[in-house]
Amino acid sequence: MHNSISRRAAFSVVAGAAAAAITRPARAAELPSVWTFGDVTVTRVIDMQGPFPAARAFPGAPLEELDANASWLAPYFYDPATKNILFNYQSYVVKTPRHTVVMECGYGNDKVRGSAAANMRKGPYLQNLAAAGVQTDKVDFVLCSHFHTDHVGWNTKMADGRWVPTFAKARYLFNKNELDGLMRGGLGPDPSTKVAYEDSIKPVIDAGNADIIDGAFDIGDGVQVVPMPGHTPGHQTLTINSRGRRAILVGDALHNPIEVMHPEWEVLFDADKEGGKAARKRLVDAHTDVDITVFAAHFGGPTAGKIVSEKGGKRRFKTAAG
Ligand SMILES: [Zn+2]
Repeated sequence: MHNSISRRAAFSVVAGAAAAAITRPARAAELPSVWTFGDVTVTRVIDMQGPFPAARAFPGAPLEELDANASWLAPYFYDPATKNILFNYQSYVVKTPRHTVVMECGYGNDKVRGSAAANMRKGPYLQNLAAAGVQTDKVDFVLCSHFHTDHVGWNTKMADGRWVPTFAKARYLFNKNELDGLMRGGLGPDPSTKVAYEDSIKPVIDAGNADIIDGAFDIGDGVQVVPMPGHTPGHQTLTINSRGRRAILVGDALHNPIEVMHPEWEVLFDADKEGGKAARKRLVDAHTDVDITVFAAHFGGPTAGKIVSEKGGKRRFKTAAG
C-alpha cells in the first residue's frame, strides 16, 4: 500500500489545485481543504487565523532555527519579517460512510475571553461550515482534542440568551481525565479556561449531549479516538485507517511544524511542560518516514503533511505544497 500512487493519493484534492509546486503564497482557494483516505474524508473549516510571537510560544528556544528553516516554514507557518508563528483555529470534519465527526471547535462566537481577538467574536464559522456542506444537525460526534478555549468554542452557540449545543443531535466525546483536570485547575494558567467550562462544556452536559469517555473510543469505519496525554491530562487524537490509507489528527501535540524538528523545545501552551515534550517526541518518532498523513489543530496553509527525515537525521514536516 505504500507505493508512490497511494502516497500521492493521500493528498488528493477534491477542490483546488495544490499539487503543483507553489512558489508564492497561494490564495486560499488554491489550497486543499478536503483530503481523502480510503472511504473517509477530512474537511478543514476555519474559525479564525492569527499570528503569535515565536519568542513567547517557545521560551528559551534558539529562535534562529526558525529563520534557518524558513525555506519550508514560510509563508504558511512562520513569518520571518515579524518573527511570528502563524495559527489557524479550525475544525476538521471527518466523514465516514456512516458518520460525520467534527474535531476541534475553535474559539466560537459571543464568548468572554482573555484574548482580544477571541473576545465577544462574531466570526463566520457557521457559514463556513455550511459552505463546506456540513449541516450542524447531521453531525454525529463532536470531539475536542482538549479543553483549552481555542478548541471548545463552537461546542455551543448563543440562542435566546442561553448556551445550547451547536451540534444539536451529536454525541460530544469528553475525555474523563480532561474533565477531571479542568475541575482541579490542571489545564494551564489561562483563566478563560474556567469560563469556557461554564459556556462551552457544562451546557453540553446539561443538555444530555455529552458522553464521558475514559480511554480509546471506536467510531467505526476505521476511525478511532485515541488518548495522547501530555499537552493536557486528557488530550486525545483521532486516527483514520480506511482501506490501508492512514491519517492522524494530533490536536495540540504539535503547534507548529518546527516542533517536528525540535520536539525537545518547551512550548508555552503545554499544561505539563515535560509531559508535552515527551508526548511530542513519541509522536514524531512513531511517524517519521511512515505513510501516515498528520493533521495538527493549528497548521494552516497546505495543513496536511508527513514527517520525513532528511540528511543528518533531521526531521521536517512535508506538505503537498513542499
Ligand atoms: Zn490550541
